[in-house]
Amino acid sequence: MLVNNVKSLLNRQLRCCIQTTSVRLLCTAEGGYTSQVKDTFRGNYDVIIAGGGMVGCTLACAMAKNSLLSNLKVLLLEASPKSDYQLKSEYSNRVVALNQNTKALMTSLNIWKHVEDMRLQPVRYMQVWDASSDVMISFSSADMMDDDVAYIVENDLMLHAINKELLSTDNENTHIVYNAKIDSYQLPKEKYSSPQSIVKMANGDTYTCQLLIGADGANSAVRKAMGVQYLTWSYEQMGVVATLNLAEECTNTTAWQRWLPTGPIALLPLDSKRSSLVWSTWQDNAKQLLQLPEDQFVDALNDALWKQYPRSSSVETCTSWLSSCLKQVGMADGAARQLPPSVSGVAAGSRAAFPLAFGHSTRYIAPGVALIGDAAHRVHPLAGQGVNLGFGDVKDLTELLAEAVYSGLDITHPNWMEKYESVRQRHNVPTQFMIEMLHRLYTVDFMPVVLARSLGLQIANALQPIKKLIMSQAAT
Ligand SMILES: Cc1cc2nc3c(=O)[nH]c(=O)nc-3n(C[C@H](O)[C@H](O)[C@H](O)COP(=O)(O)OP(=O)(O)OC[C@H]3O[C@@H](n4cnc5c(N)ncnc54)[C@H](O)[C@@H]3O)c2cc1C
Repeated sequence: MLVNNVKSLLNRQLRCCIQTTSVRLLCTAEGGYTSQVKDTFRGNYDVIIAGGGMVGCTLACAMAKNSLLSNLKVLLLEASPKSDYQLKSEYSNRVVALNQNTKALMTSLNIWKHVEDMRLQPVRYMQVWDASSDVMISFSSADMMDDDVAYIVENDLMLHAINKELLSTDNENTHIVYNAKIDSYQLPKEKYSSPQSIVKMANGDTYTCQLLIGADGANSAVRKAMGVQYLTWSYEQMGVVATLNLAEECTNTTAWQRWLPTGPIALLPLDSKRSSLVWSTWQDNAKQLLQLPEDQFVDALNDALWKQYPRSSSVETCTSWLSSCLKQVGMADGAARQLPPSVSGVAAGSRAAFPLAFGHSTRYIAPGVALIGDAAHRVHPLAGQGVNLGFGDVKDLTELLAEAVYSGLDITHPNWMEKYESVRQRHNVPTQFMIEMLHRLYTVDFMPVVLARSLGLQIANALQPIKKLIMSQAAT
């Protein structure tokens, strides 16, 4: 095994030495811009990570800290400038709900400590209820075996924590270039035979690498260059976000989500007085909500949380019948619904809206290329899963690549890459499917569908094993 490792390392280093020449030859043959490429060729890397969002930066950090991968020359290219993050008393309007698996990954990378040193809010109780009937489902820390249901962390704080750890990691093989907008890619065509990608920057610089990782978000140019099939549709909805002031101070460790006929509205706890809003609604409505004066916006918000929507009497009769049956056999009937907080104001300038879409790349890999995060999959934010799936990609990719290196395989060997694709798709695709089903189920107002989902939700709420199953799927 050790001999294999040494062989693989030597092979890689030998390739690093000779590839400067082969890149020049390749570029000359391709485009006739020999002198420009000579002037702007910036180096050959084992791995280039295109995109330094939360997922790309975490991958760079995970590779830099992994003893089997830390010898690889890694370059992270990010279009945005290096952020000069300062923790302010106001919260950012973009937050993510992070699950237990993400916490475990971030703890193992020493990133969680930085988040805790700044701020996060644990979610200890979650209540999801339907505006078209009286039923609800709740999840508590107790269902999670005394662990928190999730953690609410601001996106920019999370990115700062990841970058802080990445920059303080003692690994001179990892390079980061900010303000580095990638213009195009030239990917290897042959199937897995010593692939080499050429990454051309907007300023004319060029890099080459054996393994290219596309972490460049939902509109991934890496994915487009791979030419893979991408299944996508717009929800014709936007996620309206804002930082909300609550009418009364409280412990505020509950995440609230109400399913309106237009889509879900969620309040995620920030501190004892503030919550973060994610309100998914039709594009026109979202635009109107952004334009409303503050008091009218707050009224619309409280309406969305509290207003009684028209109910079908058949649904009412059936759900109250099921409720009394459940009560008779000593099971939770879902009647003990807690009341959500009232909103008294919205932080100035915190309202914004983001388009919502579904996306699934049928392939996560091509010769010498792999996709992670939103570049590979995109989901509706109703279940707070998007970036958690991306962090799962990072964990599995790092582990499988490390195993490959340990066995003396090339870093672009199809064995590990195909395993990566299969392991991740086996997790991500069912999760995407479930989220999609929930979205479709809850944006329908047709009575039989409302009845079916209401009874289903009541039963799920009454059965602890089902709740545990839902939580364990959401936590991974
Ligand atoms: C309203 C809303 C609420 C959400 N809530 C949650 C939640 O509660 N929980 C959750 O898990 N997820 C949530 N998500 C999803 C989550 O925000 C995304 O999954 C996550 O941000 C994706 O991270 P990423 O690093 O893969 O991609 P991105 O954040 O898109 O990062 C891609 C990076 O690549 C860089 N890049 C792109 N092109 C180039 C180029 N040509 N050259 C160089 N760099 C480039 C970009 O600058 C960017 O930094 C939510 C999403 C929305 C819209």
